[in-house]
Amino acid sequence: MRSLAIIESCEGCGACCQVVTQPPFRRDFDGVGEEAWERLARDHRALHAGLLADQDERRRAGGPFHGTPCLWYDAVGACCRHYELRPRACWEFAMGGDDCRDARRRAGVE
Ligand code: SF4
Ligand code: SF4
Repeated sequence: MRSLAIIESCEGCGACCQVVTQPPFRRDFDGVGEEAWERLARDHRALHAGLLADQDERRRAGGPFHGTPCLWYDAVGACCRHYELRPRACWEFAMGGDDCRDARRRAGVE
């Protein structure tokens, strides 16, 4: 049986950020959401407003809603531009887990 390569770092990867289109904050239709989203609304109003404006624009344009790089993704540095503010789903995403490996395979990251 072939053993899986050990993934020790996200450096130079960013594969999981290249398909979510927007930071995956959990929120309800009334706009209320996870703690990180509420903190963004309270303490980082410009970023919060930017996400809502981007979402409205996509709705008007009919998408895309998935499958494109995250709005916060820095393609040059292959990193998150607002790492400390990222949603729960991002900080819970398991490096080296099945979804990570799948994202890397799709993005062609060794
Ligand atoms: S796909 Fe995996 S290694 Fe790449 S950035 Fe995401 S968690 Fe890190
Ligand atoms: S870590 Fe940052 S760039 Fe990546 S999906 Fe999450 S919010 Fe977007």
